[in-house]
Amino acid sequence: MIVNNNNINDMQNNALELCQINHSYGNIAALKRLNITIRQGEVVCLLGPSGCGKTTALRVAAGLEMPNSGEVFFAGKKVAGDDVFFPPEQRNIGLVFQDYALFPHLTINDNIAFGIKNLPSKQCQKIIIDMLDEVGMSEYGNHYPHMLSGGQQQRIALARALARNSSLILMDEPFSGLDARLRDKIRDNTLHILKKFGAAALMVTHDAEEAMYMADRIAVMLDGKIVQIGTPDELYFKPKTAFIAEFFGEINHISAMVKNGKAETPLGQINTIDFNDGELVEVIIRPEGLSLEDCPQSSTGNGYATVLASRFLGRTSLVHLCTCATSGIETHLHARVSGKFKCDDGRIFKLAMDDRQVFVFPVKK
Ligand code: ATP
Repeated sequence: MIVNNNNINDMQNNALELCQINHSYGNIAALKRLNITIRQGEVVCLLGPSGCGKTTALRVAAGLEMPNSGEVFFAGKKVAGDDVFFPPEQRNIGLVFQDYALFPHLTINDNIAFGIKNLPSKQCQKIIIDMLDEVGMSEYGNHYPHMLSGGQQQRIALARALARNSSLILMDEPFSGLDARLRDKIRDNTLHILKKFGAAALMVTHDAEEAMYMADRIAVMLDGKIVQIGTPDELYFKPKTAFIAEFFGEINHISAMVKNGKAETPLGQINTIDFNDGELVEVIIRPEGLSLEDCPQSSTGNGYATVLASRFLGRTSLVHLCTCATSGIETHLHARVSGKFKCDDGRIFKLAMDDRQVFVFPVKK
């Protein structure tokens, strides 16, 4: 990376930069020219399927792996690359892992004190008291980790990571060991604490909803590379590929052909850009992008569908539809409508589409 005076300030505003990182385990290339930047105070989630390289990227950032090539910068300072390599203890990072990684033989107080041993004892004590208070665990300082629940241990792991006043917190699937209810509570608490401390964080998850909950920006990884990075709504409403669209929730897939610039589907014509007539495309519609409008029960043709079943799921209802009886083409669709949707099976509805939730991609060859 060529550093000049113009980008020194930018780099200092970045808590972390991974530049052109390659990393292999034997002949397995886990990271391929990976680039990512985390700004000061920003929470970024690395999201992607199993084996795409998320944990490896986090380990490279932490200094737990020395990359084969590429550079790592913390607030503009090179910590890995060329002949430089700072080990984890010299990077001023807080680490939070899936298994919490608390020292079992140390009390909670001593676990938190571990990373700040170099501070004067009084200051260290004050930080411990403040951090335990922050995570709502003030009464547990003299307990040992095995005496705490998973959620409590997770809060201590976060307190330990933040106690060092680290400019960067690295978290690997930090909530995956918790049951659903506790997970919601702990991740809410974690986000509040990160924002209160203004700490930058890079968090690994394979759960898109969790990434949307936590992240200022999400980086989607596939096969060792970042395939798209942006705010949660950029990724949700402007996915670059069908794979990314699908990662953010269930979708309806329809194969279609382009005619006069529009994809011809049993739901009607869908505008396309950059496709030639006669080209096969993949149309993706999110279930929440479909709505159902009353229509005469004798309606036929494209744009209508019959209800196969509807199920109330709490905040929304999922309606199973088929276009067979109306258009003659058998396409099964899901529509997600808010609240309780009750109707008789077999009823015909006109389908309306929210353009922001309809995407047209080339068919993969
Ligand atoms: P998961 O979500 O399943 O944890 P991930 O996206 O975090 O996956 P990594 O753990 O970074 O992916 O692994 C990336 C690739 O490197 C995978 O093919 C994995 O099998 C391989 N890999 C990871 N760690 C090692 C290792 N210590 N030795 C050999 N191969 C490894």
